[in-house]
Amino acid sequence: MSKIRVMDEVLANKIAAGEVVEKCMNVVKELVENAIDAKSTVIKIELEDSGVKKIKVTDNGIGMDKEDAVLAFSRHATSKLKAVDDLFNIDSLGFRGEALPSIASVSHVTLKTSDGVSGTEVIINGGKILSVAPCDLREGTSIVVEDLFYNTPVRLKYLKSLYTELAYISEYVDKMALSFPNIKFVLTNNEKTLLNTDGSGRLLKVIHDIYGLAVTKKMIEVQGENNDYEIHGYISYPEVMKSNKNVITTLVNGRVIKNHELIRMITDSYHTYIPPDKYPIIVLQIEVDPTLIDVNIHPTKMDIKFSKMDTLKELVTQVITEQLEKLTLIPDASLETKIEPSGKTTISTNYTPASTQEFDTHQKEEEFQKFERMKLDFEARESSTTYPSSPSKDEEDTSLNLAEEKQVVSKERIKKMYPVGLVHGTYIIAENEDGMFIIDQHAANERINYEYYLRELSNPERVVTDLLVPITLEFPTNEYLILKQNFSLLDKIGFGYEEFGFQTIVIRSLPVWLTKAKTEQAVRQIIDIIITQEDFQMEKFLHHIAATVACKASIKANDHIMLKDMEVLLERLRDCENPFTCPHGRPTIITYSKYDLEKLFKRAM
Ligand code: ZN
Ligand code: ZN
Repeated sequence: MSKIRVMDEVLANKIAAGEVVEKCMNVVKELVENAIDAKSTVIKIELEDSGVKKIKVTDNGIGMDKEDAVLAFSRHATSKLKAVDDLFNIDSLGFRGEALPSIASVSHVTLKTSDGVSGTEVIINGGKILSVAPCDLREGTSIVVEDLFYNTPVRLKYLKSLYTELAYISEYVDKMALSFPNIKFVLTNNEKTLLNTDGSGRLLKVIHDIYGLAVTKKMIEVQGENNDYEIHGYISYPEVMKSNKNVITTLVNGRVIKNHELIRMITDSYHTYIPPDKYPIIVLQIEVDPTLIDVNIHPTKMDIKFSKMDTLKELVTQVITEQLEKLTLIPDASLETKIEPSGKTTISTNYTPASTQEFDTHQKEEEFQKFERMKLDFEARESSTTYPSSPSKDEEDTSLNLAEEKQVVSKERIKKMYPVGLVHGTYIIAENEDGMFIIDQHAANERINYEYYLRELSNPERVVTDLLVPITLEFPTNEYLILKQNFSLLDKIGFGYEEFGFQTIVIRSLPVWLTKAKTEQAVRQIIDIIITQEDFQMEKFLHHIAATVACKASIKANDHIMLKDMEVLLERLRDCENPFTCPHGRPTIITYSKYDLEKLFKRAM
């Protein structure tokens, strides 16, 4: 029986409206997903002028017989469309077969396909079949789409610049390569190779092919499961941050998904490790019982609905924070500059044309193998050295006050550092046997204060103190009305206040911790936060207050502090739960390892 099924008129007409094809990427997407459905293990995408002139997709899949090859371009047929519900239950990537006739109606198409028995060539111009003839081809399909939108100049006008079109395609192919590490993807533009994965099934190798070595070194494998979900993938060190959300790739049951809430769960897990407008590089594969997701949203937007969002959030948060809490996250100053230029990052906005950086498969493979050997060596060394040395360290630490148990654990995250001096009244230079450290004194102090204020804010047994001189605050009507609605928040923080006449309140007592900061300023800022907040969440509110007060209360740049103050500051930083970033996600410490220094001064090669 034919693999192609005839679909109903309504849908066919909708498709004729042509909402399916608007970018070259849509054509590539359609052809690539057909190739995946055909069980291909090698998919080659060749572009000329970013696909505007020519898109050729060749695969080694099961191919079609003559009947299907002709029917594939009929407006009334599709091999894959069943019900939208099937999307996640069937092998097929589904719901796109309808795009093929749309593509054919606005371009010149040459299809060569063979099911292994006989080959067929179909040539179509502007949707009209010109010829159907037998041809030779090993099993598989090749489709050439030329002069896209040649007969609809209006649509042609909507195509973005060649680089933008290429960036969309490149981003899409990257995501497919990450979704299907078992399929070899080759992407070329004007005969320059942009991506060439090996189909060996190694997800980290695909990450390396896409983002380069510097990023790959900073990826951590994660996995976890609960009753509803299973997660596996890679997350980046916070220092590898990008300005584009697209570096977060999430797959659900093998399919790329863009779900707003899921992305927020991930970025929330990096809260204060990364500035709010930056994103970590993430590839997360999520496995879930298909009955727990709803795909009836809009299939082309790649979004789905999870019926158990809370348990997913629990798992994602746990999997990521567990890893982050284990790591020493001091960015290596000598590596820092190397991370940005390598790899294709934030492609939609600043994609670099592939003139100088053609993809070199051999070099990539060698580089990756070298990296894997190094990693194995390193892991072997780690496991052999930490054991003998750690008991003595533990004894030393347990001699400390037991009440500080939690802090003893966190101290392990950074070794003791000895301050040497201050640069520009801002950066503390410190050292230990591992290397040299540069600490931003404001950021470090801010982190220490932040964690202190956050603890105090969530401490129900609050110590309150009366103010010698009450603080009187007057507000414009609109602000006062908002404040009045939120008096409970003042109670929550521990303010003692009363309304005083028209749109004025008097603060008579404050929690003790707040009086350590610059009191009146801090009080004003807290109230500002209350008045201007949108989309209230208690946790975020408390974070915001702690971060704001911490910034105010911390030493500034150009405060020339003494060596013994530096010592105290560094020790207290080591006590922090996350000593590596300030509450705004900026780094507190960077380092030059001893080896880096030797390398930089050519003492070591
Ligand atoms: Zn600050
Ligand atoms: Zn900060």
